[in-house]
Parts: sequence; structure tokens; C-alpha cells
Amino acid sequence: TPIIEFKHVDKYYGKFHALKDINLKINEGEVVSIIGPSGSGKSTLIRTMNGLEKINKGQLLVTGYDLADKKTDINKIRKNVGMVFQHFNLYDNHTVLENVTLAPKIVLKRPDDENKKIAMQYLEKVGMVDKINSYPRQLSGGQKQRVAIARSLAMKPKVILFDEPTSALDPEMIQDVLDVMRYVAEQGITMVVVTHEMGFAREVSNRLIFFDAGHVLEDRKPEEFFAHP
Ligand code: ADP
Ligand code: ADP
Repeated sequence: TPIIEFKHVDKYYGKFHALKDINLKINEGEVVSIIGPSGSGKSTLIRTMNGLEKINKGQLLVTGYDLADKKTDINKIRKNVGMVFQHFNLYDNHTVLENVTLAPKIVLKRPDDENKKIAMQYLEKVGMVDKINSYPRQLSGGQKQRVAIARSLAMKPKVILFDEPTSALDPEMIQDVLDVMRYVAEQGITMVVVTHEMGFAREVSNRLIFFDAGHVLEDRKPEEFFAHP
């Protein structure tokens, strides 16, 4: 059974038709890359998956909840669905460690000892243990993004959405972040990644969606995509 399912979904910004009759199923553990021109609606598409953008028509089922249903508690979905942004969205007034422990403490009420232990495990995975007491302003873009991914992982979500996670980084930082994303994929977490990184799309994702003008143009395995451009 799919963990994310779009059924005839439409999204408008005023009169602008941003998502056009989207029908899409994503299964648990899949790593899906979404590529396509700027302004085609990629960001809108993934932002609907955790309720950051509301849909106007159709059904959108995410981890068993219908985002089109006004009675659905969006916080329940967000416990299951993490998000990594282009511009990191870290809490500037909190240390690296606090950035990772805050949501599990408040949202999951995870006890402090266990919370810190889990945070440290993920900070180690992303190579940020030596910066736990630093503030975001003291970090490079690549370091900030690795903290953002650790923060997402610490919630132990079923799905992580990535909205152009490497687009704001200096070129020399990109590979470190992609390596961490590969680690996330290996954990069996379902990933939906808007990206321009064709290497990641080809080597790590098992599905590639080409998006254009508000709809899915192609939806294939990467090997098929690259074999028949
Ligand atoms: P992409 O991620 O592919 O660059 P977006 O989803 O960001 O595309 O945007 C798709 C289209 O919707 C663009 O034309 C953009 O200007 C428009 N758009 C995005 N967000 C809004 C918004 N909040 N209000 C109005 N138009 C928007
Ligand atoms: P990014 O490159 O990170 O997607 P954008 O500059 O496309 O950032 O969008 C930043 C914010 O502005 C988003 O919240 C998006 O929804 C909003 N936005 C984008 N295009 C428009 C638009 N044409 N009108 C109003 N808001 C928009």
C-alpha cells in the first residue's frame, strides 16, 4: 500500500493552476527524485505532502491521513513527515544540539536522556558531533544542512521531503550533503527529493519524476530514464 497517494489533486494560487490533476502513488521505502524546470510546481507538489500548501481539489493521503479533509490534524502528519528546506530553516537562537532535540522533546515528549542520546547518534552520522554547542550562524551552509537532516531524522519520521536541499550550497559542500542523503535512503525512509543533482537522481533514487507545467510528464526508474532520454 502506498504511503503517499494523490488522487486527482488540483492546486491553485488565485487563478494560477499550479498542480493539474495529479495522480501519484509513492510506496514505503521509495526514494523519488523530482526534476523539472523552475516554476513548474515541484516545490508546491512536495509542500502539499505535509500540508504546507493546501490542495483545492481531490484527495491526498499521507501516512494514512487525508490532507484534503479539514478534520485531519496536520500535526499527526508532520510527526510522520519531515522536511528539509533549501535555506535550512534552523532555529537561529538555539545550538546545534538544541536544534535536534527541540521537536522530539516538545512534540514527542521524549525523555531528556533518550532524546540527547538519539540526537547525538544522528549528529554523529552527519558528522556534526564536534559542533553541538555551536549556533547556526557559526556554520557553513553544508554544515547547516547536515544539522537540518539530523533534526529531521531525530523525529524518526516515515517520510522526509527535501526541497532543493543542495541548491543554496557552495559546490564544495554539496557532496557531503548528498552523502548524508544516501545514508538516509539506506535507512529505508521514504524520500521525496526536489533536486537538480542528476548524479543523486540516477544513483540513489529508485524513481525519477519529470515535472512540467503543473503535471507529471514522465515517471520512470532512473535506468529507463537515462536509457531513453
Ligand atoms: P518550482 O518548485 O518548480 O520552481 P513552485 O512550486 O515554486 O515551482 O512554483 C510554481 C508556480 O507557482 C510558479 O509560477 C510560482 O511563481 C507560483 N507560486 C508558488 N508559490 C506561490 C504563492 N505562494 N503564491 C502565488 N504563486 C505561487
Ligand atoms: P524557493 O526558491 O526556495 O522555492 P521561492 O523564491 O520560489 O523560493 O519562493 C519563496 C516563497 O515565496 C515560497 O513560500 C513561495 O510559496 C512564495 N512564492 C513563490 N512564487 C510566488 C508568487 N508568484 N507569488 C507569491 N508568492 C510566491
